[in-house]
Amino acid sequence: MSGSRGRLHGAPREHGHRRGPFVLNVRSLRARPGTRHEVHLAGSISEMYVSEARVPEDAEVRFDGWVESTRGGVTVAGVATAPWVGVCRRCLEPASGVLSAEIRELCRDPHDLDVAGWGDGGDDDEPYAVGRDDLDVEPILRDACILELPLAPLCSDTCRGLCPTCGANRNRDECSCDPPIDPRWSALAGRAGGAASQVGDEERAENEGEAGQAEQEGE
Ligand SMILES: [Zn+2]
Ligand SMILES: [Zn+2]
Repeated sequence: MSGSRGRLHGAPREHGHRRGPFVLNVRSLRARPGTRHEVHLAGSISEMYVSEARVPEDAEVRFDGWVESTRGGVTVAGVATAPWVGVCRRCLEPASGVLSAEIRELCRDPHDLDVAGWGDGGDDDEPYAVGRDDLDVEPILRDACILELPLAPLCSDTCRGLCPTCGANRNRDECSCDPPIDPRWSALAGRAGGAASQVGDEERAENEGEAGQAEQEGE
């Protein structure tokens, strides 16, 4: 290796084989527990998506934070940001934004753990791995960013959605449809309407009577 570096960086590609942009050389850091280095990384991460939103394949994922050598491995902390695109759940037009994910993970060196202790706590508790020389931050960024992708994207907080009657995009077009009846009340309204028609004559007579009185009082 080329010896210690004052500042960690990703993507040294001078060795012929391709290293990801999120692989850090941590050899010198790990030689001195307690050392902390500032880290700024950027690159693309493929296949980050949930059902309604995704980070574009060629989009730049950024990580700004620090790594610190600890007794049990290396702590990675900072903020990951990435642009996302998706489909608005209300108007079905394209939606987009920038996600931001807080990160703080202790990465363990499998060499420092007995085999039985590695991954004992089930998938959720399994620590990220750090090697003697390398730390690949990409799996940490991937997991954190996917958690922050919107499950129900909106093109805007004030999106007015589609008219359920004629399908017009109400952000662009005013239609003349009646406002929709809330489905929770429509059944009730139907029942009340039926009852009203049965007693309609009686009610009308009463209303006319009242109206007549009101007119008389008004004069
Ligand atoms: Zn919308
Ligand atoms: Zn309409």
